[in-house]
Amino acid sequence: MEDTYRHKGLRRKLVETVRMKGIMDERVLRALDTVPRHLFMDSSFIKFSYQDQAFPIGAGQTISQPYTVAFQTELLDVSPNDKVLEIGTGSGYQTAILLELGAIVYTIERQKELYIKAQDLLTKLGYKPHFFFSDGMEGKPTYGPYDRILVTAAATEVPEKLLQQLKIGGIMVIPVGDRFTQSMVKIVKESESNYKRTNHGSFVFVPLITGTEG
Ligand code: SAH
Repeated sequence: MEDTYRHKGLRRKLVETVRMKGIMDERVLRALDTVPRHLFMDSSFIKFSYQDQAFPIGAGQTISQPYTVAFQTELLDVSPNDKVLEIGTGSGYQTAILLELGAIVYTIERQKELYIKAQDLLTKLGYKPHFFFSDGMEGKPTYGPYDRILVTAAATEVPEKLLQQLKIGGIMVIPVGDRFTQSMVKIVKESESNYKRTNHGSFVFVPLITGTEG
């Protein structure tokens, strides 16, 4: 659970790489500089923690590439105290980034093993999101509506239930496409029936899957 000067130095370099790739939001870059990514990695890949790449975290899932995390977070445009629903806790790395921005985070994971691991780690690090082991496609209506909804797995289409749980004026960021490539979609809910949808480039995510496992 150590965060050494060496880690901090590598992290600073990673932040500069991500900045060079086009991320401009200083708050997002600062969050990336703060969260010790090496603690969220699977032990076999620790030495690659500060490379700008996705890596396996078990259960066939991945920790997202830092650039992708920064890109989604920048698009989401989070303000302190925003109520954010995150689908796909995974390693918990993106969750920590949202918390560093001052968000109140509700995070859902469908793989029991990852849900337990992320909960354990984030709690040890002092992060306090609300954790749920359930199918994120259903959202979490009890605690909604949300200012922001972030989906970190690939959807074939935008789940209607998630749109319903977004506040008017709220933003959802979700990769939408087939198994091999997805378009980063940003949706602004302008009224109960009006949505402004824009596309922001191609990405590759593990699929969003219905139901739970484990
Ligand atoms: N944000 C994570 C990325 C994890 S990969 C990170 O930074 O580590 C995507 C995650 O979404 C996986 O853990 C996968 O199990 C989860 N997932 C896929 N479909 C889901 C669903 N319907 N509900 C909740 N989580 C889901």
